[in-house]
Amino acid sequence: MTSRHGLSKTNSTVYLSSPVNALVHGLYEENVHFSDVKKHGDFGLGTFDDLDGEMVMLDGHIYQIGSDGHVSEVHEDNHTPFATVTFFNPTIQAEFHCELNHTEFVDRLMQLLPSSNLFYAIRIEGAFSHVQARSVPKQANYHPFIDVAHQQTLFDFRHVNGTLAGFYTPTFMSSLSVPGLHLHFLSEDHQHGGHVLQCQPKKIKISVQPIHKLELSLPKTVDYLTTDLSGSVDEDLRQVE
Ligand SMILES: [Zn+2]
Repeated sequence: MTSRHGLSKTNSTVYLSSPVNALVHGLYEENVHFSDVKKHGDFGLGTFDDLDGEMVMLDGHIYQIGSDGHVSEVHEDNHTPFATVTFFNPTIQAEFHCELNHTEFVDRLMQLLPSSNLFYAIRIEGAFSHVQARSVPKQANYHPFIDVAHQQTLFDFRHVNGTLAGFYTPTFMSSLSVPGLHLHFLSEDHQHGGHVLQCQPKKIKISVQPIHKLELSLPKTVDYLTTDLSGSVDEDLRQVE
């Protein structure tokens, strides 16, 4: 492994279009335009209104990964109930040139993060022996997220090149964003992807951006304003994410 460490030189901010708590409660229509989300970042992940697939944003391009596995680049006129983005400007880099199982990969990745109390944007490019990912089918509003997870479609990509994009969130932020590592995958040919459940990299380049600031948008919808969000969603999140 080769690595280069550095604290963040930029005043970067992670932007949440909504607390994940609302998504877990089944609020899938927050109607936030991606054109608004893009004012806050060019890199990130999330989903679409009605939970219509997984979203990954790379270099300002928005990709939608449907539950049928179809990947398409979508226009910023689309809406999202939950997106996490930042302007990507990494200060920590490393390369792993050996095959790692998922546990080894996570251990090595976590060793690159100077503290578990910060946000990190994480981009990983390279070759993978295996990526297991999922996507979710479009949902009616209010259908609890924990039930949706049982309808997810699993994809097993073997010997694939591509990019993992996502974030590390401190566990004490679990009502705001998915705690711990949350990564989405897009294959190099833009034909495959999804929310990553596990992966086995064989030759990868890792770029990490420590983030010390959070900008959280709270939705204006009647649903959001009137739903009781006081309960903990930790257990539901642990099961589905
Ligand atoms: Zn996800």
